[in-house]
Amino acid sequence: MIDDRQLTIHEAHRMLEKREVSSVELTKAMLKRIKKLEPDVKAIVTITEELALKQARSADDRLASGNGSPLNGIPVLIKDVICTRGVKTTCSSRMLENFIPPYDATVMERLNDCGAVVVGKTNMDEFAMGSSTENSAFFTTHNPWDLGRVPGGSSGGSAAAVAAGEAIYALGSDTGGSIRQPASFCSVTGLKPTYGRVSRYGLVAFASSLDQIGPLTQDVTDAALVLNAIAGYDTRDSTSVDIPVPDYTRCLTGDIKGLRLGVPREYFVEGMQPGVADAVNNAIAKLEELGVNIDREVSLPHTPYALAVYHIIAPSEASANLARYDGVKYGYSCQDADSMWQAMEKTRQYGFGAEVKRRIMLGTYALSAGYYDAWYLKAQKVRTLIRREFDAAFEKYDALVTPTSPTVPFKIGEKIDDPLQMYLSDVCTLPVNIAGLPAISVPAGFADGLPVGLQIIAKPFAEETILKIAHAYQQATDWHTKRAGI
Ligand code: GLN
Repeated sequence: MIDDRQLTIHEAHRMLEKREVSSVELTKAMLKRIKKLEPDVKAIVTITEELALKQARSADDRLASGNGSPLNGIPVLIKDVICTRGVKTTCSSRMLENFIPPYDATVMERLNDCGAVVVGKTNMDEFAMGSSTENSAFFTTHNPWDLGRVPGGSSGGSAAAVAAGEAIYALGSDTGGSIRQPASFCSVTGLKPTYGRVSRYGLVAFASSLDQIGPLTQDVTDAALVLNAIAGYDTRDSTSVDIPVPDYTRCLTGDIKGLRLGVPREYFVEGMQPGVADAVNNAIAKLEELGVNIDREVSLPHTPYALAVYHIIAPSEASANLARYDGVKYGYSCQDADSMWQAMEKTRQYGFGAEVKRRIMLGTYALSAGYYDAWYLKAQKVRTLIRREFDAAFEKYDALVTPTSPTVPFKIGEKIDDPLQMYLSDVCTLPVNIAGLPAISVPAGFADGLPVGLQIIAKPFAEETILKIAHAYQQATDWHTKRAGI
């Protein structure tokens, strides 16, 4: 029975508690499903069968001695940008193809403390740069809803895996939309927490002022359960914030009457597919039926600058962060060279893919003497304006609702040769990272049979508001229960 059903965390937890299934059985069923589906979906870079079965056995022992964590014994997949001790962490890059971290990321320590069962590491755009997983140095992940299409990115492996039922939930990372956009493309729930809510220690850095880890799940209750486990202060991340972590399941009351929601018109961008706009407008009407007050006339005029700001700040930070891959400290090292400089050059030439090189060059340029003021400093100033505009909006509204992506999943190969088109995939998600806000994408229907996501954004540390609204929406709709059917 567990072979054919895609269980949520809370359902699996209930079954484990009632001894209807053991963690070992659940894990074996998941591994079987992975083996059956992977030839088509290709969401996973490393399967950790032995580790998973070992963790499942200890989870069963804990269960017998009354461990109450809702994540105990539940199989999870981890984006391959998060360090897992003793398990390869490749960032889907040739540079780290054989890198085995000697330590766990903080989120991994926290999941391990809860008794999580790690079944593997998921595919992604190399170093989290991309919107389709086509930038993986290894292979492209396929969207379970239509195998000819991309699952989004960069956490495309995690999103596709959850949609295909290859794990009950997954972790992703979001720098400009990389949890929410693939969640939208694969019809799963994806939460990007407030910057500073979840420790970045052990998350391989892309753009450190934007990166944040979060869950990809089948529903909002599961997202709250995972956030409970991974959120919180960590002395090893200087940007993590020391404020208490509430129990995020307590806000899931279903009652959202009287909340004030704004719909910023700039998010309905030119070129948005009409079917996407329709689905999102229907979702907004549904929220209205549930008793929220909607203002459809909101304007956030700096929104159109977010794309340019992001593509200066993110590559700038990336160019600094990726300087550590020099063939000496970590990962791949070219030995066939006449000098140290040549070794470094050849290491990077082979180790990095085209998109990563493009970003390093852009960032190095934007930060270089003479250009710094014109590009980087200017972008930082506009970043402040965008953040202030959100601050002002959140004085009037409890949350903002927007589409997650202007399009449904596109065909594999359709945008890979046109970086600007690819960058446009994230227009609706980037502003959130620029301002460090929390946001969620939830399934909101289909356009031409392909998934559409609704994005809900709130002020910093108002994850509860987002989860509450998203949960009420899921109580009133069944989009999140639809399965890709593979
Ligand atoms: N797609 C965006 C980019 O290419 C965002 C990536 C991310 O959030 N990691 O940079």
